[in-house]
Amino acid sequence: MQVYAFNKNQNRVFVEAAEQASDYSCLECGQTVRKRGGLHKQLHFYHLHPETSCRLNGKSAEHIAIQRYLKNLLGETCEEEVAFPHIGRIADIVWFSKNLIFEVQCSPITADEVRARIADYEKAGFQVIWILHEAEFCKKRVSASTLWLQNHTHYFAENDFLSTPAIYDFCPVILRQKRLGSFLKRPIDLSQIQKRKRVKTVASLPTYMHKRVELWNYFVSGDLLEAIENNELHIFDEANQFEASFSGNKTQEKSSLTEKLLQPFFRLFKSIYYYLIEQSTR
Ligand SMILES: [Zn+2]
Repeated sequence: MQVYAFNKNQNRVFVEAAEQASDYSCLECGQTVRKRGGLHKQLHFYHLHPETSCRLNGKSAEHIAIQRYLKNLLGETCEEEVAFPHIGRIADIVWFSKNLIFEVQCSPITADEVRARIADYEKAGFQVIWILHEAEFCKKRVSASTLWLQNHTHYFAENDFLSTPAIYDFCPVILRQKRLGSFLKRPIDLSQIQKRKRVKTVASLPTYMHKRVELWNYFVSGDLLEAIENNELHIFDEANQFEASFSGNKTQEKSSLTEKLLQPFFRLFKSIYYYLIEQSTR
């Protein structure tokens, strides 16, 4: 589903201005779409004959709700579902005055696709901020794309976004692709976004906060990078202790594993040693 489509004259039409039961065409795949929704459901266009490869067709109700939330928050300075024909992409939200794109992601995505999208939009002169849906991107088993996105500015949309619309930041503790915990969940205000200089990290931060300090290009009002910039490092104490308790186990586990692997060799050397002694004393 989507909120923009072309009319017969190939002009973009917002769903609220579209006529019920009239045919429009999809911005991406060109298939026929129609208006649906109303009192209890967000107005949207749906595909009459869904094209499975069309990304706009794949957008869920949550995706549209998050997109609409961002549009309402950022107002007239941004636009929804903007086509970039030369790179073959349609961005969810474009904030032209800041050269920023918000990509909402509610479904699984590969790390390669994340990288490709960032690179394509950078070519077009835009930086991407990712808004990830909690239901998909806060699972216990951390996907390759979630892990890769730790290097890039991203925030989370509340799991039950349709009834609790909020975007937040938090500090994850991840070890060997397992999410062990999350700390310091705090609502953020994306309309107050600022470019930042990447700097060398400061000590006493959890692992994935180091990455942010070194690699993220933006921070927003209320987020954890802002807290770091304000030198509020004590707020990470609990996350640090929690993470340290696991890294301790990791070292122990590692050394016992090494011992286990080497045991057969020790046994072999020992028997050769005793055999040689036995032979020499005969
Ligand atoms: Zn389509």
